[in-house]
Amino acid sequence: MNDDQLLRYSRQIMLPDVDIEGQEKLLAAHVAIIGIGGLGSPASLYLAAAGVGTLTLVDHDTVELSNLQRQVVHRTDAIGRSKTASARDTLLTINPEIDIHTIERKLEPEELRELAERVDVVLDATDHFQVRYQINDACFQAGTPLVSGAAIRFEGQLSVFDPRDEQSPCYRCLYSDATDEGLNCAENGVIAPLVGIIGTHQAMEAIKLITEVGETLTGALLYYDAKYADWRRFSLSRRPDCPTCSGPRHTR
Ligand SMILES: [Zn+2]
Repeated sequence: MNDDQLLRYSRQIMLPDVDIEGQEKLLAAHVAIIGIGGLGSPASLYLAAAGVGTLTLVDHDTVELSNLQRQVVHRTDAIGRSKTASARDTLLTINPEIDIHTIERKLEPEELRELAERVDVVLDATDHFQVRYQINDACFQAGTPLVSGAAIRFEGQLSVFDPRDEQSPCYRCLYSDATDEGLNCAENGVIAPLVGIIGTHQAMEAIKLITEVGETLTGALLYYDAKYADWRRFSLSRRPDCPTCSGPRHTR
């Protein structure tokens, strides 16, 4: 680390749990963020600022006026641009030292698995059930921890699924295959700071996975009801018949 880096990250380095060693782990880490919308915005802002050395941003959408109420990585002049390019520009103004890769299309399951194999942590910041299953399966095939967040209306939830942990359930253990497309913000609405709260929490869990500080949310689901400022934590367990995680675990 050079002098500028020691200064830029000084408030993290001074934490005994992080120290220079933890900051170096962050600088060496590669995180994929899938979905650069309401959750991916705050997650990417904090991971970039905290010095995660490489980010891969995946989103096939362009920025729309109706996104700006909550997708805070995008600016008004980015309307019409791809979300990944818009986010990259914002993130580099905050931290020009990191590497940012962008993928501006939907990934096939095989491509998701290849991406999961290349990175240390995957953040699911999408709002589509089928894609969530695909990301989950890719992470378990690749042996890569997954930080999953969701937010709708006034309610959010968060969990970590870690294939390296024998006891960890996966997303499919929590939700067996849904037949409908689930809920999304375009049809149901979402209150702006909610996605900030959940997305920022995803960034926190990713940093803990990378630095190995504390305990992650693996095996637990955190549920937040913003209307009543009510946080609840539920234990999750593996489903013995889960098609994704009941077989032998891949380890890296
Ligand atoms: Zn499972």
